[in-house]
Amino acid sequence: MSEVTDGQNKKAMFDKIALIGIGLIGSSLARVIAREGIAQTISISTRSEATLERAKALGLGTQYTTDASEAVKDASLVILCTPVGTYGKIAELIAPNMMKGAILTDVGSVKESVVKQIKPHLPEGVHLVAGHPIAGTEYSGPDAGFASLFEKRWCILTPEEGADQAAVERLTEFWKACGSDVDSMTPKHHDLVLAITSHIPHLVAYNIVGTADDLETVTKSEVIKYSAGGFRDFTRIAASDPEMWRDVFLHNKDAVLETLGRFSEDLSALQRMIRWGDGDALFELFSRTRGIRRNIIDMGQEVDAPNFGREDGSSDLDN
Ligand code: NAP
Repeated sequence: MSEVTDGQNKKAMFDKIALIGIGLIGSSLARVIAREGIAQTISISTRSEATLERAKALGLGTQYTTDASEAVKDASLVILCTPVGTYGKIAELIAPNMMKGAILTDVGSVKESVVKQIKPHLPEGVHLVAGHPIAGTEYSGPDAGFASLFEKRWCILTPEEGADQAAVERLTEFWKACGSDVDSMTPKHHDLVLAITSHIPHLVAYNIVGTADDLETVTKSEVIKYSAGGFRDFTRIAASDPEMWRDVFLHNKDAVLETLGRFSEDLSALQRMIRWGDGDALFELFSRTRGIRRNIIDMGQEVDAPNFGREDGSSDLDN
């Protein structure tokens, strides 16, 4: 159990946490860290003045700067919350100012590339434990975050062999204090699992929405008018941040291409079933897939309600 359960009365787990990037994930962390009293000081750094001003106006932290190397000074936990293509540059920038004994982690949706980018810059005595909260929405920026985003969601840590165990345990406690369940696996395995559970579904959504946009025999107004037939749910996924998702595909290239190969073969098999009128095969597959959804609901990762239980139209993408 975390020693922090009540922001007001318990000792903070960390003196200072630095959040580099204050979009959906960074600002959700800032909110839950403040709510749970996980740190005494929340230092926020972001690239642009505009986002920094917004974070200030929302009262997300206690220190604000556009200089990431300034933000990490005296921080015992530094969390990178920017697109995965930026981590090498940021690690290089912050390395000279990182405190000995500090934990450096991230929330990136890809893990092997992130570790590869950061490691060459890792200062002596700083513990790298990469991580990925499997929680998100298609919205971006500091206004999009909310404190309960990580509740009952998995956070996957990918410590390397020989990683500092005390640092891994502290980070595990941190994520538990944010409401998450914590699992651990190698970066390579993480990237393979996420390729099928998140990256390929996003690619499929981007592709369907792109195809519909390019169709000439069906008008765009018809696509929008009749979107409740299934298309609408894909548009939600395909509305996710373009910069983040460009980086995900560029940095999880091998696992995505491997999984995509298998996906294409299965799609060809489906095409054959339809062409040859193989109703039994279609029925068997669709029954099997229905069972998978039942398992997800049973494991508490989705609600058993029509329209995903989202009356307000908001969504919950587990990226
Ligand atoms: P976001 O809402 O778009 O926020 C991105 C943050 O990174 C902003 O502070 C932005 O700064 C900064 N940033 C963007 N491009 C940058 C660059 N080239 N150099 C330096 N800073 C840059 O993004 P997010 O959804 O929070 O995603 C952040 C990370 O979380 C990503 O690595 C993503 O893979 C991971 N993740 C996302 C989800 C999800 O559902 N969205 C779920 C799990 C993990 P400015 O606004 O100041 O430009």
